[in-house]
Amino acid sequence: MNTGDSHKKRQSPAHNLLAMTLVQTISWVLRFYFITILNNYTVVGQSCTGPITRYAPIPPQTRIPPSGCIIESFGGGVHVVLDGVNTAMVVVSTEGVIIVDSPPGLRRVLPAALGNITHIPVTHMVYTHFHWDHIGAASLFGNNITVIAQEETAQNLIQLEDSDRPLPTITFPHNYELTVGNQTLELSYKGEMHADGNIFVYAPVQKVLMLTDFLYPGWAPSARFGVTKNVLSYVRTHDKVLAYDFDYFVGVHVGLEGNRSDVLIQQEYVLDLRANCISTIREFAGNGTLYGCPDGYTLGQAENPRNLYAFGRRLFELLAVSCASRTSEKWVDRLTGADVVGYDNANIMIESLRLESGIAPTVF
Ligand SMILES: [Zn+2]
Repeated sequence: MNTGDSHKKRQSPAHNLLAMTLVQTISWVLRFYFITILNNYTVVGQSCTGPITRYAPIPPQTRIPPSGCIIESFGGGVHVVLDGVNTAMVVVSTEGVIIVDSPPGLRRVLPAALGNITHIPVTHMVYTHFHWDHIGAASLFGNNITVIAQEETAQNLIQLEDSDRPLPTITFPHNYELTVGNQTLELSYKGEMHADGNIFVYAPVQKVLMLTDFLYPGWAPSARFGVTKNVLSYVRTHDKVLAYDFDYFVGVHVGLEGNRSDVLIQQEYVLDLRANCISTIREFAGNGTLYGCPDGYTLGQAENPRNLYAFGRRLFELLAVSCASRTSEKWVDRLTGADVVGYDNANIMIESLRLESGIAPTVF
């Protein structure tokens, strides 16, 4: 009576094989699914941390004391307050203190540091340029001080409407001599080399020159030469710096103060990088290969046919890798971080050679 049902329950070998295959398939699908999930997590993990890159070890750096900053004196009332990343210059006069830049990184320590230098109040502030990381704590000093900046700095600040960076009260196009009590600072704008309105600040008596985001003594120039918009102008700035009679160079972000020899070394590095990039481009233009490797242009076209952005990027990428490797290995022992910034500096140099000097690998 129940044969029909029992027959249904009794599986044939074919059915058993089918069922096993089905179970196996489901198992494989699930395994694949979980492995994919795991892999995705791994991929997500990798994309969060990026590939680990070890660069050349750096020489011992100055330790910052528990107070959070170092105060250095250049004599004659000129000091710098720095924490190894941020710097403000403090000039004490008989009638008030001039402070040059007020970085947000020093917000917590700057008032105490000033108190350790002098009890004369801050009456004047100079903005070296409009970037937040240099003057984002300018509001610390209230609205009753005189703030001096170059015109383009003022224009940028008007547009930014940032209450932490009060608008300057005095602006100038090219040169301004600021005298407060017994101290004088010569401010000069010599064209864009990092940001619009980025000025030279010079204390002629103490022979101290401050130029932000151009040179960090002991270190290679930062990536893309401090994100300059004009590499040619950046290169020429070395001569403009060397035209000053200075004993101390205040570079701002890393390292302590420098001197003329730091400027000469950086100039040599930049010119060497430029020469290496020119050689790389000319070599490529001459035989269409880079050290026997397939050139980026051909490689890029094969990978992404007709995608001009893609193979253009490939071409410049490989040129920059080649130029950076020629340069960095020579410089890594002389300028800290030369291996870290080598690619970015080569990349922007190659762009500059193409756009500004017409030295190009192809008709790009
Ligand atoms: Zn800047």
